Amino acid sequence: METGQVVIRKRGTDRIRRGHLWIYRSDIVKQDAEPGSVVAVRDERGTVLGKAFYSSKSQISLRLLSRGDIPIHEQFFHERFAAADRLRERLNIDPLLSRRIYAEGDLLPGLIVDRYGDRLVVQNLVQAADRLQPLTTSILTKRYDPCSILFRNDSKVRELEGLELKQEVIGDAIPDPVVVQEDGREIAISLTAGQKTGSYLDQRENHRAAQRYAHGDVLDAFSYAGGFAVQIADKCERVEAVDISAYAVELAKSNAARNGLRNVQCIEANAFDLLRERYTEGRRYDLIILDPPAFAKNKESLEPALRGYKEINHRAMRLLRSGGILMTCSCSHHVSEGIFAEMLADAAKDAGCWARVLERRTQAADHPILLTMPETLYLKCFILEIIY
Ligand code: SAH
Repeated sequence: METGQVVIRKRGTDRIRRGHLWIYRSDIVKQDAEPGSVVAVRDERGTVLGKAFYSSKSQISLRLLSRGDIPIHEQFFHERFAAADRLRERLNIDPLLSRRIYAEGDLLPGLIVDRYGDRLVVQNLVQAADRLQPLTTSILTKRYDPCSILFRNDSKVRELEGLELKQEVIGDAIPDPVVVQEDGREIAISLTAGQKTGSYLDQRENHRAAQRYAHGDVLDAFSYAGGFAVQIADKCERVEAVDISAYAVELAKSNAARNGLRNVQCIEANAFDLLRERYTEGRRYDLIILDPPAFAKNKESLEPALRGYKEINHRAMRLLRSGGILMTCSCSHHVSEGIFAEMLADAAKDAGCWARVLERRTQAADHPILLTMPETLYLKCFILEIIY
């Protein structure tokens, strides 16, 4: 299974020693490797530092799989999948609705596996994951005996790897929508056309956390299929779920109806405009949830992204009654928790309120974070009490 060798310079070896998994093209001295192969990574003295997935196209040339000189064979991958399952079992994660493999966080770089009942959705995000697809299929079949595996290899990031964008189904055709059970609620999602692999599993624990604060008048902005709204509506007077996408609004409507929730109003609108309009109208809320898409797609867009985050947070703070709760998220990789907190403090200053931190949260535990690899932590979520 191993086919090549790559020699890296000191900057790269230091990165590996500090616990990062990525080596950039600029830190490669010499390479003899095929695209998407498993290679031995050596320092300039020839010592093997570890084994890695090699990519011939991406700026991230190597993604470490293991430390030291251990052989990588099929059994190695079987064991990684088993370890990921053991971790989730220990954490008491719903076996039927969860992320089973979170790429680097599970030490299987560039591979995502989500389980929606008896259907699995896989994303191969690097060349090596594509090459390993037959093995992945056989491991997943053995572990979960799914009725279908959907390879949603249509994520844009594959272009950086020079990989084709496509979808492929193994097993039964995938119905649309697929209905899953999230904490006692039925949620209809589209595995083939929906965002990510169909839903936001990373927000599941935050959907639960929101229940603690749910009461009165609620605004769920950037609601997608109603992930938050559906989980909290029975504790609220009314919930407005807002999304800019007509398709998302349809999903949210059907999910509210499916669960008999008559107090959820699904609105197709730009949340920026709606927040402004509601303030002018004099409407006030007890809980506002902000879960926008990643505004900062890269380092260059950090400044405008922060202006966007500040605008919606400032507007949301002003819309809350004193003692109201703001649950605010950012899934931009390039916005650290520290930067996010500073932006929130700035927004509070402009809104003229105090913001008391009730909880600092992150992505659900089935998206495990490597302490030494900040890129594995992307979701920040603050629950703030807004006090005037
Ligand atoms: N809260 C959801 C996930 C939200 S994903 C959950 O927990 O499941 C982000 C959503 O923001 C997407 O559905 C996208 O359509 C929507 N969106 C993007 N820009 C928007 C805008 N300007 N106004 C309102 N919604 C927007």
